[in-house]
Amino acid sequence: MGILDTGVKNVANVPRYTIGSGSIQELERILHARRSQAKGPVIALVDEFFSEYKTNPAHLNLTKDDHVCVVSTTHEPTTDGVDAIFDNLKSHGITSPSAIIGLGGGITMDTAKAISNLFNNPGNAETYQGWDLVKTPGVYKIGIPTISGTGAEATRTCVMTNKKTGLKMGMNSEFTVFDQLLMDPDLTVTVPRNQYFYTGMDAYIHCIEALSGHYRNAIGDALSRETINLCKLVFGGQDMMSPASRERLMVASYMGGCAIATSYVGLVHPFSAGLSVVLGMHHCVANCVVMRAMREFYPREYDEFWLLAETQGVEVPKGVCNGLTAEQYEQLYLATIIHQKSLTNALGDEYSNILTRDKVLRIFSLM
Ligand code: NAD
Ligand code: ZN
Repeated sequence: MGILDTGVKNVANVPRYTIGSGSIQELERILHARRSQAKGPVIALVDEFFSEYKTNPAHLNLTKDDHVCVVSTTHEPTTDGVDAIFDNLKSHGITSPSAIIGLGGGITMDTAKAISNLFNNPGNAETYQGWDLVKTPGVYKIGIPTISGTGAEATRTCVMTNKKTGLKMGMNSEFTVFDQLLMDPDLTVTVPRNQYFYTGMDAYIHCIEALSGHYRNAIGDALSRETINLCKLVFGGQDMMSPASRERLMVASYMGGCAIATSYVGLVHPFSAGLSVVLGMHHCVANCVVMRAMREFYPREYDEFWLLAETQGVEVPKGVCNGLTAEQYEQLYLATIIHQKSLTNALGDEYSNILTRDKVLRIFSLM
């Protein structure tokens, strides 16, 4: 089997979604239907920005028997962190929930997906880091994105870092796909502007990487092209956060997630993972930082990206690798080069002849 065989030949998508202003109001009907089919409390994992739902669970149509768990977004998910949330839920006597809600950005949605799988599969989070290791469908899960771009609402993975092994990998499984999405652009109105751009451009970057890669999927390509069009409309326009722009970006995020689930990323993501693993930088801002060094590899997209950033007056951190030690540079190199599949997708089987240690370090020094 070639390195670029995804094993995702028969693609699973989210079976049900609603999109549009006010979609979150559908939650009442969906939970009502769910409660008539399954016993047990509903668990809502909510981004810390929405922590008020903990004190006012009725806003999410939850009762006192349900459970709201606030997810911190200071750090991106780790296997230990997911295990700690799971253990905490069990310590509240919750063994068999009827539904799990993930309301937030990629961190919260990924955490919800992982917790859903753990309820119905023995072991802890690291047991399922890899491809198709989850054997039983998780608990019925509802995704409610509150920031757009990563496509985490659409994909079959939930990214987690294992601090012990340094492995940054999700539970890649069709059981990780949400059962229901409520995509309500009203929820993204409060996202800070810089963050809105960083996360939004994750959709753009997934798709430029997929379209420039060696491994292609015909439907993935079509989704990628439209995702890029939508991102250009949103970030090339006057008001990237108008109601119409926020709805467009939500569509782009979902479609970009569907696209990338059929393919691989390219060069930006391996370098970005290096920045995340070694410097603790969050995924989406790290991608934007990496774009500083991508002129050579994605020249047209490089120009386009920086024009969009300028149009929106967004600041992307600069000089992030200045003053790093030789050891840190070595860690950056190792954390990048480990991403064999994406690098092969971008540069072909001979990628290591192009990305020599010196070359990788020069690329980091441009950021
Ligand atoms: P995030 O979860 O990192 O949140 C970013 C920030 O925005 C946080 O401070 C959060 O509290 C805040 N926020 C979220 N919604 C808000 C709102 N409506 N108003 C105000 N603030 C709000 O967001 P992200 O960038 O969507 O997610 C990044 C994560 O997604 C990373 O952990 C990354 O690994 C993961 N990811 C997953 C996939 C996947 O397929 N599963 C794909 C790409 C990235
Ligand atoms: Zn990404």
